[in-house]
Amino acid sequence: MYLCLLPAKFVRRMYEAEVVSICLIVVAVFASARLYFDAQKLVLPQCPQEEKVETWVQFVFDYSILSDFDIEALEARIEEDLAFSNLILSNSCIPMIRKSAGYEFFDARNAKPADMLSSHYELNLQHRNLLERAYQEPNFYVVLVLSEDNSYFDYEYKIAETWVDLFPNFVVSDVRAAPFALEHELGHLAWAQHDLETLSSQLQSRTLNSMTTEDNQSQIKRYAHAALCGDSGTIMSYSDNLLPVYSSPNITYQGQACGDVETADNARLLTEYARALREKVSARL
Ligand SMILES: [Zn+2]
Repeated sequence: MYLCLLPAKFVRRMYEAEVVSICLIVVAVFASARLYFDAQKLVLPQCPQEEKVETWVQFVFDYSILSDFDIEALEARIEEDLAFSNLILSNSCIPMIRKSAGYEFFDARNAKPADMLSSHYELNLQHRNLLERAYQEPNFYVVLVLSEDNSYFDYEYKIAETWVDLFPNFVVSDVRAAPFALEHELGHLAWAQHDLETLSSQLQSRTLNSMTTEDNQSQIKRYAHAALCGDSGTIMSYSDNLLPVYSSPNITYQGQACGDVETADNARLLTEYARALREKVSARL
């Protein structure tokens, strides 16, 4: 996982606007990261009854992926990714559920994306309706999945990314990303952050506020960090061993709390995000 600052003035074709401060939040699922834990030692809270808000995830696969996966394998992959997401959400008592909105294909041969901006630009040329829907419907997300040949990700350091400040409903991923990478990225779209140690090494002397546009400053919460507990970490952490939970002081692993009220309660952050989403969705009906 990695967080970087792009140049202050970033002009590209349709995005002819000066972006004063750009924060690109990227997850790298290192080859060594794995979802591996002792279920006997993971203690989850009793969740209160609450209506779950539905979120829709639209996948767009690079056509080249079909040389390695058939349709059945792609459909199985969608199911697996969303099953992991829903496991993490329910383990963390977050009143939200992920559902598939289906899949489309993207031609990357003549429009090979080089970064998040060009991915969005090219996708807009080929599937404008999907990005318009993502713009209009707060519970609709688009996940562009690039083949190994057309991926711009450096597999060693990053494998998927989001840019919540600019595209609050958009993820770009490499087809090699592990199933739990999807929920990590969707977590970033709710403004969840990495564990404090990782984040501070990524920020160096900067602050998240200084890298976020003014309109979104209020989205940055002090409690929105991942946690390390036992020999593992919560889903937004950089631990080699990942637990299928968001950070929460109400969850323990190997006898240690996987969260902190002041600094590491992504379950609270995602719950607040889900409730706000439910209100927005109801208001649209
Ligand atoms: Zn990340």
